[in-house]
Amino acid sequence: MQFIDLVTQQQQIRAKIEENIKKVLDHGQYIMGPEIKALESSLCDYTGAEFCISCSSGTDALLMALMAYDIGPGDAVLTTPFTFIATAEAISLAGATPVFVDIDPDTYNIDPDQLEKTVLALQNNEKLIPKGIIAVDLFGLCADYDKICRIAEKYGLFVIEDAAQSFGADYHGKKACNLADIACTSFFPAKPLGGYGDGGAVFTSDEKLADKLVSVRVHGMGTDKYENVRIGINGRLDSLQAAILLAKMDIFPDEIKMRQKIADRYLEKLGSQTSLVMPDIPKGFASAWAQYSILAEDETHRESIQKKLSAEKIPTAIYYPIPLHLQTAFKFLNYKNGDFPVSEDCAKRIFSIPMHPYLKSADQDRIIAAVLK
Ligand SMILES: *Cc1c(COP(=O)(O)O)cnc(C)c1O
Repeated sequence: MQFIDLVTQQQQIRAKIEENIKKVLDHGQYIMGPEIKALESSLCDYTGAEFCISCSSGTDALLMALMAYDIGPGDAVLTTPFTFIATAEAISLAGATPVFVDIDPDTYNIDPDQLEKTVLALQNNEKLIPKGIIAVDLFGLCADYDKICRIAEKYGLFVIEDAAQSFGADYHGKKACNLADIACTSFFPAKPLGGYGDGGAVFTSDEKLADKLVSVRVHGMGTDKYENVRIGINGRLDSLQAAILLAKMDIFPDEIKMRQKIADRYLEKLGSQTSLVMPDIPKGFASAWAQYSILAEDETHRESIQKKLSAEKIPTAIYYPIPLHLQTAFKFLNYKNGDFPVSEDCAKRIFSIPMHPYLKSADQDRIIAAVLK
């Protein structure tokens, strides 16, 4: 059994993928070929965002978003410590300082009450000026953008949605990637919409930001790429990746429905286990189910569950074992154990079980039985 099964998915669309790849081989425009615009337009249609700027990875998408806001030294960007390293790494890469805010224990996403408290505390800090927020839609569940955007507006901050895990999710009738000033997603193979390599996209409905993002993506280009008006990066998506993603978009809406069915079944069969905390999807939200993550009672309980599953050849994973404020890479920020108790507690107790659209019911039954043991 695989944690994420990309083989079965490929079988559904193999002919279309080959056809799309052949088109690229025939026209030979490996950089910025027609597939790029076609994919961007398909992603705009799906998410409802006005502009999509495809790029080389989810990490570069975040970096490009921060560069579009001219973020740099002395600027603080608030984010969650319970996420993949890339979220906060992009802030540091842009020269700014990540300022962490603990998570809500029910959704694992940034806690809006703590967020406002942290913004207020920064007003006494002469060295750091708060400029923006990166909220993460962890495991595919959107953060609380109504509250986050209200705080942002009150204090004049921008909001970036890290939708690397939530492409396909819903938030009160809107789609993920269209919930903040800028949204960033990733097409890393294991994400809900994954390519066959690295890739990502930035979304916005602000034309000025979109123009800047287009420029940042190709070395800060002006009217052409040999006239450079700002510092940018080499952040393009390959035509070949776009060709593959276009084929995957054909089945993506169905895959989201299939993921929901798998999640419903997990909840139905495991929901009454009092020793486990199942994902809590608030009213008006629909997760993209990038991961199905459960809280055990404590570290020992988690270890024993993972051992039992592993003995039955059922793969599990821990997202994330070390909250970012305790990572060696962020030692220079001078955080310590105890600063973000909810994130620290979750890091000790959380584990994820197989979740993908093609999980067979027999396999899911085996997983459920093993967890119940
Ligand atoms: C995967 C991920 C990223 C980075 O995406 P890459 O395409 O791997 O660079 C950023 N943020 C979160 C929350 C992610 O899960």
